[in-house]
Amino acid sequence: MEKYSFVIPSYNEALNIPVIYEKIAKEMEPISQSWEIIYVNDGSKDNSMEVLRELAAKDERVKWIDLSRNFGHQAALTAGLDYANGDAVISMDCDLQDPPEIIGKMIEAWKNGFKIVYARRKNRKDGFLKKTTAVWYYKILYKFSDTKIPRNVADFRLVDKVVLKELRTMTEHSRYLRGMVSWLGFSHTFVDFDRPERLHGQAGYTWGKSLKLAMDGIMNFSLAPMKLAFWLGVLFNILGALFLIYMTLDTLLNNVRYELMKWLTVAIFMAVGLQYVLLWIMGEYIGRIYEESKNRPVYIIRNKGNLE
Ligand code: UDP
Ligand code: MG
Repeated sequence: MEKYSFVIPSYNEALNIPVIYEKIAKEMEPISQSWEIIYVNDGSKDNSMEVLRELAAKDERVKWIDLSRNFGHQAALTAGLDYANGDAVISMDCDLQDPPEIIGKMIEAWKNGFKIVYARRKNRKDGFLKKTTAVWYYKILYKFSDTKIPRNVADFRLVDKVVLKELRTMTEHSRYLRGMVSWLGFSHTFVDFDRPERLHGQAGYTWGKSLKLAMDGIMNFSLAPMKLAFWLGVLFNILGALFLIYMTLDTLLNNVRYELMKWLTVAIFMAVGLQYVLLWIMGEYIGRIYEESKNRPVYIIRNKGNLE
């Protein structure tokens, strides 16, 4: 029989912890009794630990990891995934913004053979600012990242244990899990849902934390920002060259005399352009050092034939 793991990072979620437990238990009732919920307490300041100890004493399928301080959502999620041993592992938020009602559909998709099932939000009940920034952010990320990270997908997803095994080999420290999972490949599909409002408490994701996550997404999955120096270099060099040609011809053919200042301006344009090009070349090397330092596997195997 298949075993299911639920990984739930929680930060100040004392009121939501029992609710999500009840809901998952209810959804799993007709599917399987073999499941576990791993709560990762990410340095909560409320009485989350009391609630967790109590719940775990009542039901041994409830497990918890108590981090020594607040490490952030992605780190907490990583901790939980490291301990999950289900055949299918589902990660979700604790605040019921990732509705347990669609777990059944996700499991069905997994049983149909998909190794990754992303829950994708069709609608989100967030403030105007958060919504608009999110839309634009995902557009930019999708355009510039080398890995095609699906849009409108956060960390509510199911992964097969073979995917999780590979994910564990990715030891990079700055973690953008949704990107890492899509980098791995494997077959994937989506289950759509409307994102409700948070049940109890306040969002632990402050603007600062969200911004950091957003930066991690772009910087970890794209070398595009580095190319800026290249394009600036091209621009300055072309402008400088055009001015130079124009002024030279003007001098030779029309006998116009340019002041030294003007010649110097052109020289500065070209010198700056050259520096941009050199910066870009250095950027390419730094980019390569960066890629190497992530120490990701070179390839991921789906299957093998007649090989051990
Ligand atoms: N969370 C966490 N550590 C943090 C911030 C958030 O583990 O430092 C958890 C939080 O308890 C929730 C999930 O990450 O289960 C998503 O957080 P939140 O609801 O604040 O984010 P939002 O829904 O606003 O993106
Ligand atoms: Mg939330």
